[in-house]
Amino acid sequence: MNARLNPPQKPGATRTTAEWQQTDSAHYLHPFTDSAALARKGARIITRADDIYIWDSEGQKILDAMSGLWCVNVGYGRQELIEAATRQLQTLPFYNSFFNTATPPAIELAELLAEITPPQFQHVFFGGSGSESNDTVVRLVRRYWDLQGQPERKVIISRKNAYHGSTMAGASLGGMSEMHQQGGLPIPDIVHIEQPFWFALGRDERSERLSREEFGRRAASWLEDKIQEIGPGRVAAFIGEPVQGAGGVIVPPSTYWPEIQRICDRHGILLVSDEVITGFGRTGQWFGCETMGTKPDLMTFAKGVTSGYIPLGGVMVGERVAKALANGGEFAHGYTYSGHPVACAVAVANIRLIQREGLVERVREDTGPYLAQRYAELAGHSLVGEAQTCGLMGALQLVRDKTSGAPFPAELAVGMMCRAHCFREGLIMRAVGDRMIIAPPLSMTRAQMDEMLALIRRCLDLTLAELQ
Ligand code: PLP
Repeated sequence: MNARLNPPQKPGATRTTAEWQQTDSAHYLHPFTDSAALARKGARIITRADDIYIWDSEGQKILDAMSGLWCVNVGYGRQELIEAATRQLQTLPFYNSFFNTATPPAIELAELLAEITPPQFQHVFFGGSGSESNDTVVRLVRRYWDLQGQPERKVIISRKNAYHGSTMAGASLGGMSEMHQQGGLPIPDIVHIEQPFWFALGRDERSERLSREEFGRRAASWLEDKIQEIGPGRVAAFIGEPVQGAGGVIVPPSTYWPEIQRICDRHGILLVSDEVITGFGRTGQWFGCETMGTKPDLMTFAKGVTSGYIPLGGVMVGERVAKALANGGEFAHGYTYSGHPVACAVAVANIRLIQREGLVERVREDTGPYLAQRYAELAGHSLVGEAQTCGLMGALQLVRDKTSGAPFPAELAVGMMCRAHCFREGLIMRAVGDRMIIAPPLSMTRAQMDEMLALIRRCLDLTLAELQ
């Protein structure tokens, strides 16, 4: 018999933090988590949220500078989204769109997405998450080239340290070596080139620093090299996040994406922009490709489309691919929850809210530039080797030696040390190695940004003090 550690609770009753933790480690396998290590310390139980803050089961208030997991773009507790979900749940909680049927919220969202995305996008394929959307990309890309009579064009080129999700195709497209090691990935015909990470890679053969611009062109040329190695006639697509998010908020040099676009155009290769993080205003434009000046053929989204209130993802399908699909008969692909009416209703309400409050413009003209200015000041901190922002994404690279950029020994786990200080001080900031990253809600005011920046500086100081 499955013995319960805690008896079922009466409605309204709650448990102590220790009880939640005990039951959690008995039954709940968390994503990207060492379960044994978690069981030793116990999970932090998050119980409620409002605006840009979350609260844990001990009542601690925490400023969420990661918007949940890069998704709560409009902040927590928005009545418009709650009401949209409730209304749709009452009217039609579910219907599919497989057998020549559709629902009003899915149609309305498709129309709205066609309006706010770049003009080449007039069609959308819905899924339930970012990972599913990137799986759909692999299917779409291969279907496209089959329909073009070029089935030998199968290879998709991606980048090391990219993150495109956790399904077999998503993790294969991603360039995280720890993920590839678990499960025999990548799947065939997905290859990776080096990332445009100036701080880590921007040196010449004599170890002299390259300018960012020169490095951007060099990093893009690695795509041309890979295409030549594989043979241009075998390459189907290139995929990239406009700004690598989970890899550490790596903002590429301004020369990188225009050169990538030129290379894709030259070889007729499809360009795929993974906008799961950078979509819906994060970079100060509706989509990151607009900030970077590219014209992708396919664009994946999730997270910010509903501000994370309910799962939804999808692929914007550009004219070139949409035309081929339209004349290609049945596309044998789809998910039960493609175009889920409740998720779509929340997405429509979320996008309307972003429009009404002018959040994209606010990031572009006000809070984004302000964050950039304040991060430039933080670059002077003795722990910080590089400070980067793009819209409301930010990264601080922690280094042992500011002048040379020399890193701390990995066993010191300085990023995790800093993250622990953040938790204690009431701030969520994520550590990717020794790179501290943020992506706060786009609804954040300047006063809240000052509060966040004061917390960040305090946590850097506390980390420095602990190291001395
Ligand atoms: N693509 C990018 C750029 C992401 O950052 C993520 C998740 O963080 C995904 C895809 C996967 O999305 P999901 O976790 O919704 O499957």
